Amino acid sequence: MRTCVYPGSFDPITSGHLDIISRIVDMFDRVLVTVLNNSTKLSFFSVEEKLDFLRKSTAGYSNVVAGYHDGLLVDFAKANSARFIVRGLRAISDFELELQMASLNKKLYPSAEMVFLMTSTDYSFVSSKMVREIGSLGGNLQTLVPDAILEDVTGRLRVI
Ligand code: ADP
Repeated sequence: MRTCVYPGSFDPITSGHLDIISRIVDMFDRVLVTVLNNSTKLSFFSVEEKLDFLRKSTAGYSNVVAGYHDGLLVDFAKANSARFIVRGLRAISDFELELQMASLNKKLYPSAEMVFLMTSTDYSFVSSKMVREIGSLGGNLQTLVPDAILEDVTGRLRVI
């Protein structure tokens, strides 16, 4: 059984994240899309909302499990027998931090493999931060977030 973890803040999940998920579901038997508590980033959405959005967005994939972990990514991966950790890369600016995290994860969990997927060009400019900004200013989020959560996210951001 090949299990991978796709970790992130998912604040909220975007079409860019879903694109990565849609490409890894065929590569692994089980895909654990995991909201990590990132102490350096203040979240807008609650963990419950993030999980609800993840579940609605990935409802069509039977091997995706959405979850939450408050602690080290490698501990979560080990506990779930997941040897593969997936990350998406958008621009060169993502690379430096990803390389640092990959090296640290390898030190903490030597048998783990980091798997990097390049963003599809359609989504290279999409980030959760942009979604929050555009949504709070009343902009149209269609194509930026998965269709299944468009209404929920739009409604939630309008009230800021
Ligand atoms: P983090 O806060 O850990 O960066 P994010 O929720 O922003 O987590 O993203 C999770 C993962 O998805 C990261 O590897 C990030 O680079 C990747 N990602 C984010 N947006 C996109 C996108 N538009 N296309 C491809 N990968 C993306």
